[in-house]
Amino acid sequence: MPHQDQDTSLRHRLGRTIRTPIGVTALTACLMVALVAVFGPVLFGDQAARIDTDAINQGSSAAHLLGTDQLGRDIAARVVVATRLTLRLTLLAAVIGVGGGLLLGVAPAVVGRRLGRLISATVGVLVAFPGLLFLLFLATIFGVGSTGAVFAVGLAMVPPMARLVQNLTASIAGSDYVAAARILGVGRFQLVVRHLLPNIAEPSVLFATQAAGSILVAFSGLSFLGLGVQPPEYDWGRLLNEQLNRIYVNPAAALAPGAAVVLTGLMFGLVGEVLAQAGGRRAPQAREATLQQQVKPQDATAPDGDDGALVRARDLRVTFPGGRQAVRGISLSIGVGEAVGLVGESGSGKSLTALALADLVPHPGRVFADTLRFDGQDLRADPRLGTELAMVFQDPMASLNPALRVGRQLAEVAEVHLGATRAQATARAVDRLGAVRIPSPERRARQRPHEYSGGMRQRAVIAMGLMGEPQLIIADEPTTALDVAVQQQVLDLLAEVREDSGAALLLISHDLAVVAQVCERVLVMYGGLIVEDLPVAQLTGCAAHPYTRALVGAVPTMATDPGIELATIPGRPPEPGEAGAGCPFAPRCERARERCHDDAPELAGFGPGRQVACWYPVDAVTAGAPDRATSHGAEATS
Ligand code: SF4
Repeated sequence: MPHQDQDTSLRHRLGRTIRTPIGVTALTACLMVALVAVFGPVLFGDQAARIDTDAINQGSSAAHLLGTDQLGRDIAARVVVATRLTLRLTLLAAVIGVGGGLLLGVAPAVVGRRLGRLISATVGVLVAFPGLLFLLFLATIFGVGSTGAVFAVGLAMVPPMARLVQNLTASIAGSDYVAAARILGVGRFQLVVRHLLPNIAEPSVLFATQAAGSILVAFSGLSFLGLGVQPPEYDWGRLLNEQLNRIYVNPAAALAPGAAVVLTGLMFGLVGEVLAQAGGRRAPQAREATLQQQVKPQDATAPDGDDGALVRARDLRVTFPGGRQAVRGISLSIGVGEAVGLVGESGSGKSLTALALADLVPHPGRVFADTLRFDGQDLRADPRLGTELAMVFQDPMASLNPALRVGRQLAEVAEVHLGATRAQATARAVDRLGAVRIPSPERRARQRPHEYSGGMRQRAVIAMGLMGEPQLIIADEPTTALDVAVQQQVLDLLAEVREDSGAALLLISHDLAVVAQVCERVLVMYGGLIVEDLPVAQLTGCAAHPYTRALVGAVPTMATDPGIELATIPGRPPEPGEAGAGCPFAPRCERARERCHDDAPELAGFGPGRQVACWYPVDAVTAGAPDRATSHGAEATS
């Protein structure tokens, strides 16, 4: 993938946008309003306050451009002077609105699940409440005056801001790099500061800028109604209130503050438009949480048995509301240093099994297991695996925080888990980037993910896992997003890393060729169950389960006749909760018999180092295993 470092920084885009007509207009308007706010009261303050009983309620003239008010004060000067107070109160209200919105918006990600839901529901109710009524309600509560109006307008902005931030946060919270940070034990507050806020800053600023125009109008409206600024202070809304009854006598006197409100509101809108254009109207992409965690099926044990198994899961289930089970009571183990492949069609439960291991199953999913252990640690009691688990995600771009430099992201792992100083952590990050053969690691460490190619990003993700000393590397479709040449490089790198570190590998993939190249053992999942466990050497030609055979048959080889249509598996996999009492593969199995539809076969031994869940496995006799169809009582347990 080519580098994407051409003119993509916000600073560059902002500079380019400011040079457009709309950018020039917005910048000019901002400067003018700022100058008026700063120097207006200094230059015209006396004129605006001077009472002249000889010039009461005059119309436009050379001496008084917009005429005078009931006390003979110059209206033009008062409009100019009112700019500072109007902007100051508007910005104060905006700070309250943005600050409150940010707090409420990120709160569900920081507090517990129940309180988070309560906050989200409260925000939802407030957003549904008519905005104008809510504003008047708050204005009544806080009372008449500038301070009350500032709080009323600011707080009225909190719900929509909070809703925006919640939506943005939810999309970021589902990203791979946040999930990885959670697994690494990064605290909630640190998650918000380091990962969530930087990635929602841009759309939040855009929203706040554009909302400032609405705040200005709202605040002026309160002052116009007599609920905002009180005499002797005055803002544009107050001036409009004072002059409206003379609009037919001296229209300019009433229209001038109104025009100031409208033009300044437009200015805020233009600024927001410029920022939106500079930001490419982007919101952080909702990245699909395709985390890859280890998956463990029904008693798919390491070849040497359970003793010393690095990973051990028994009766692992992932359920969703309505009783839908996506993972249906699987058991498995992975030996120290073992490379295990987990294959199956989409929806087979591979990734959810992995998510369950890392306690990352998204709400409202729930995880149950009789046993869930990693290197002797009970993951049900403490799911944090720290640097003992390295994860390689499907989409390397989504695996790295786009707002942080790559070196900083790697260094954070060492700082959090190894207690390294910033300098030590940075040095290790550079060393690890070099270890995964990223050229010029010092320079690359200072770059952000978008400046890396796709293959380099995946190497950086692997390097992140190597910041500690992982005992298990989980790679979920690590090469799917890469082209063939880079795919091979990443696979070679994984093999090298495993060889050097002695780490076990759980490779989740739909590509049997990739699994066959890297792994020693293969677990085949279907319908939330493990249906076969066999050495990778026996995958081609010796698989016993009809589904495994069908998967293998659907993979083209160099010997495949291009003129012959590739084999496909008819039908579709069952949705969670859809599988009946019998074998989940029965509706698609050409070997299915009556018993298959009534009784579900369990995973059971099928020769040395092999297990299969099938009543009528292929080549059962020749493989030396019992024909389970004729020995039901002996083989029902795994
Ligand atoms: S149990 Fe029956 S339906 Fe299921 S895979 Fe075996 S032969 Fe096919």
